[in-house]
This record gives sequence, structure tokens and C-alpha cells, in this order.
Amino acid sequence: MDDCLFCKIIKGEIPSKKVYEDNFVYAFLDIEPQAPFHAVIVPKVHIASAAEIDEENSMYVSKIYEAVAKIAKKENLQKGFRVVTNCGEDGGQTVGHLHFHLLARRYLQWPPG
Ligand code: 5GP
Ligand code: ZN
Repeated sequence: MDDCLFCKIIKGEIPSKKVYEDNFVYAFLDIEPQAPFHAVIVPKVHIASAAEIDEENSMYVSKIYEAVAKIAKKENLQKGFRVVTNCGEDGGQTVGHLHFHLLARRYLQWPPG
């Protein structure tokens, strides 16, 4: 999608610090980290939010979780991590391209605020 920030990051039109990439998924460091390790993992196709996941595109969600496990091993996150998807206005979503936050390297409170 032409006007989407994360589509531009995937295409390299906006620079990012790559953490992981394969045919389905791109992961990069968040520009405003909420933990000592904070990556954003996105599907390489434009899906607007978690509310738009369906039978056609849900394979990307599996691929994202495969990437989570690979990144966790590569980055030595064996002490633990959290994966978060914000969806919609009340969910705090600010970028309209499905993404999964991978947060680690500090104790993460539960429940979140
Ligand atoms: P959301 O608030 O939609 O759940 O998450 C969007 C995330 O994208 C935020 O954590 C924000 O810091 C991050 N972000 C926004 N713009 C950029 C950018 O240009 N580069 C990077 N690396 N992260 C960004
Ligand atoms: Zn997009």
C-alpha cells in the first residue's frame, strides 16, 4: 500500500534497523523502544490490523510466530519476552499495518496499563 509507513519500511523507502527477514516477514527495532529489546514484526503484505485476519491471510500470523521464536533464540531472550498486538483506537494502534511488538530484557508487568 503506497501510503503506509510499514509498507515503506518493508520496501526500504524508509530506513530501519533490521532484526530478521524472510519471504513472509520483516522485523526491525522500534524507533521508540518500550523495553531494552523492542522489535516490531510485520507481514510483508498489507493487512490493516488484527481485525482483518481471515482464512486467506492467517498464514502470515504463523510465519510471524515462527519469526518470534527465531529472533528469541538469536537475541538470547531465554529469560522471557512478550508479544503484543495493538488493534484499533482503544487498543492503542497507531500504524495501520498489522504488527507484533516483541518486548524483552526487562520484567514486564501484568496486567499492562
Ligand atoms: P502501535 O502503536 O501501532 O501498536 O505501534 C506502532 C509502533 O511503530 C510504535 O511502537 C512506534 O514507536 C513504531 N514506529 C512508528 N514509526 C516508526 C518508524 O518510522 N520507524 C520505526 N522503527 N518504528 C516506528
Ligand atoms: Zn502496509
